[in-house]
Amino acid sequence: MKIVIVGGGISGLSLAYFLLRKEPGLDVEVLESASRPGGKIWTDRAEGYLCEWGVNGFLDNKPRTLELASMLGLAPVRSNDNARKRFIYSDDQLHKLPESPPEFFRSNLLSLRGRLRIIYEIFAPRGTADDETLMDFAVRRLGKEAYEKLIDPMASGIYAGDSSKLSLKSCFPRIDEIERKYGSLIRGMIKLQKEAKGTGKKVGSGPGGTLTTFDGGMHSLIDSLREQLGHRLKIDSEVSSIDRRDKNYGVFLGNGDEMKADILVLATPAHISSKILRQENKEISEMLDKIPYPAVSVACLGFSKEKIGLSLDGFGYLVPYKERRRILGTLWDSSIFPDRAPDGKVLLRTMVGGARASDIALQEDDKIVGDVMSELRAIMGINADPEFVRVYKHDLAIPQYNVGHQRIIASIHAIISKWRGFYLTGNAYRGISLNDCIENSYIWSEKILGLKEVG
Ligand SMILES: Cc1cc2nc3c(=O)[nH]c(=O)nc-3n(C[C@H](O)[C@H](O)[C@H](O)COP(=O)(O)OP(=O)(O)OC[C@H]3O[C@@H](n4cnc5c(N)ncnc54)[C@H](O)[C@@H]3O)c2cc1C
Repeated sequence: MKIVIVGGGISGLSLAYFLLRKEPGLDVEVLESASRPGGKIWTDRAEGYLCEWGVNGFLDNKPRTLELASMLGLAPVRSNDNARKRFIYSDDQLHKLPESPPEFFRSNLLSLRGRLRIIYEIFAPRGTADDETLMDFAVRRLGKEAYEKLIDPMASGIYAGDSSKLSLKSCFPRIDEIERKYGSLIRGMIKLQKEAKGTGKKVGSGPGGTLTTFDGGMHSLIDSLREQLGHRLKIDSEVSSIDRRDKNYGVFLGNGDEMKADILVLATPAHISSKILRQENKEISEMLDKIPYPAVSVACLGFSKEKIGLSLDGFGYLVPYKERRRILGTLWDSSIFPDRAPDGKVLLRTMVGGARASDIALQEDDKIVGDVMSELRAIMGINADPEFVRVYKHDLAIPQYNVGHQRIIASIHAIISKWRGFYLTGNAYRGISLNDCIENSYIWSEKILGLKEVG
């Protein structure tokens, strides 16, 4: 029985690995179009700097990624204590994000009225919409100011998204669940904390966890998977279409080659899976095209430490959309992870673009660097020129789980669940983070092996 996985990003690679770990004799092949695997994960090392091209790390609160790392013999490298100090740029200054309720009430990030409005959350009405935007939810429960200064930047930090379009239940299902169950986030958190007392469990509505990477950067994870998969991973192998037959699938490559698969998994971005499926099923192809992918660019800039006025003692900052700046935020990478910059230097990693400003990310590199520098000057008071510059462009970067996302997924599932041995996976469907991708690969591996036993 042949299993073909199309796409050698973390979703495809980890799925192949989990399958082979359970059944080393399986005939599994991963087809990757690029000349290197990893997809959005790649680490660039130059002039003593270590820059992440895409994925910067993962939160250590989901066990599956750590389990995978341990199977591969990779030791996690956790961000240091600075990572707890996060900032929001608002009203011309950087405000430290409060870490506790008393700190929150002392902080002047929100006006007194905005802070009191958050307490009113206990009495705010429940939502009536089945699928509400993150903006509508946050304004209804927490007030406009908290939405603009806290919730909206968090959404742009994770999704580079537009919270007036993002779906609460698709993007933050836990928060949706707490409201549905307890009627209030504050009440829900208090109850959950009481229930968790003594169990050692940590309770939170947000993602939680510590940002974690590996020695040598995120690409170490890909290098290890590549080594484990060996000849089963084929690079420079672009799949152009598939054909569903009575007993198996035909897989057609851009170079004219053809393969047969008994089990076929597309672990490619939704817009690519749409192309691959266009001839086979136009309806699915059109639904996949409804998942938008805005552009994001990452500018990694290195400076001499002594020329930066600020202490850089923290994680970095996010910029609320209401500030109308040309960047989404900046991570002070060398402050939280070791070996990101040579001695005496610092590495700043600024994200631009996203659902509300893809045009900025699609500019020429020089223009992006010019925009970033003028924002770093205004926000952080940096007057020095960068000594090191890298710009990484992702024209189709992050899938957006907008309102209607779950309906799209359910409609696609209704069709493909009838196709024996066919799966769609990757960050476009049930969670965009690296942790989600790895967890979903694990779940699919169990399902595929179950199917094999039945078949
Ligand atoms: C700038 C950026 C920063 C991010 N930062 C983080 C972060 O810090 N933490 C986090 O958890 N998540 C982050 N993400 C989200 C991240 O993308 C996912 O968590 C994860 O890497 C997605 O993996 P994937 O395998 O599903 O998709 P991809 O990484 O997109 O992999 C898909 C693979 O399919 C291949 N492919 C495409 N077309 C074909 C074809 N026709 N035939 C064969 N192969 C094909 C591609 O080359 C690619 O290798 C970030 C995303 C971006 C864009």
